[in-house]
Amino acid sequence: MINYYMPTKVYFGSDSLKTHSNTMKNFGNKALIVTGRNSSKKNGSLTELVGELETLGINYVIFDEIEENPSLETILRGAEVGKSSGVDFLIGLGGGSPIDASKAMGIYIKTPNLKDDDIFKFPNLDSLPIIAIPTTSGTGTEVTQYSIITVHKEQTKKNFGQSVFPKIAFIDPKYTYNTPVDITINTAIDAFTHLAEGYLNTNSTIISDSLAEKGFVLFSESIDDLLRGNITTTTREKLMMASTLAGMVIAQTGTSLPHGLGYALTYNKGLPHGIANGILFAEYLKAFKFNDKVLKMLSIMGLESISDFEHLFDSLITHKVQIDIDEIKSYTNSFIMNKAKLKNHPESISYDEIYLIYKKSLIK
Ligand code: NAP
Ligand code: FE
Repeated sequence: MINYYMPTKVYFGSDSLKTHSNTMKNFGNKALIVTGRNSSKKNGSLTELVGELETLGINYVIFDEIEENPSLETILRGAEVGKSSGVDFLIGLGGGSPIDASKAMGIYIKTPNLKDDDIFKFPNLDSLPIIAIPTTSGTGTEVTQYSIITVHKEQTKKNFGQSVFPKIAFIDPKYTYNTPVDITINTAIDAFTHLAEGYLNTNSTIISDSLAEKGFVLFSESIDDLLRGNITTTTREKLMMASTLAGMVIAQTGTSLPHGLGYALTYNKGLPHGIANGILFAEYLKAFKFNDKVLKMLSIMGLESISDFEHLFDSLITHKVQIDIDEIKSYTNSFIMNKAKLKNHPESISYDEIYLIYKKSLIK
């Protein structure tokens, strides 16, 4: 049995927002724009969005305090702004952090008596409608049901456990044209890890694999530019499409080991999300006992072996992590409780194997 469900209306391409902005009128008269502190003001996306809302006569309030890896505290603060302003829908504008935050805020605004970390406690909560406008080519959150929240009380990041697909995604690669090289690389690696973790996943299907295989081609065509640090607009368009395809993949499959293992590296060591997954990836690939599909993926990318992949990722990722054995044991202990991610890995994997993925990746 194959299930496929991805209900977001996607408008992809140059001027997608301008061309189709009138579709926002279906969601009400007042919007809460949820965005980060700086980038949307610099890359033109906020000005364009505000201009469209004004033309359409839709009122708006801006909450521009979303940090990277958004915390529950910030989400609750933003939700209060939405409640007191009486908004009808939310527009997540920016990287994965603001879009994820908008999904969670939409739930707290829709059900005002929810408080603190209630979002993790009750299943099937409804959200106000979400419109997503991504400005990074990484998370694919514009076409996923997930929202990853930093929970300081538990010293980790975790998915909110609800299903909130944006109603509409306006995806325009031009917002990424001036993204610094390091952010472009971090986010491109995140998109690649979605493609690969979805492809090498218990839940993969012929539909998700078809999307992933096209994504591998687009990612591999972008690698030279990423390595050179000179990224053409054509490559940025390919990365944006790869990221959206990758979101469609993980909306079906979920992510698996690298994402589950990477959260500890982001929380404790401050590694950007894509790097936290990517730095573990070669060892994750080596941990497969049956690796036919790993080799198929590599061949689609024009690579002959896992060691070719490792060289490539060693060139893309130059971060060094200061970490000791006790920390690795503690991260492994926490991860081994993460049954959801373990279930998505198609083979059984032991505590020692998880420990070695961390150790061999981080202590060389
Ligand atoms: P991000 O945390 O949203 O943003 C990273 C940085 O990039 C910020 O400094 C941001 O600046 C800046 N930025 C954003 N767009 C830019 C642009 N066009 N030009 C220049 N700078 C720009 O990064 P992200 O990697 O997209 O999102 C990561 C988050 O998404 C993590 O919390 C991760 O766990 C989550 N995630 C979610 C899913 C999902 O399906 N929901 C999947 C994977 C990852 P400002 O802060 O000033 O805007
Ligand atoms: Fe991710």
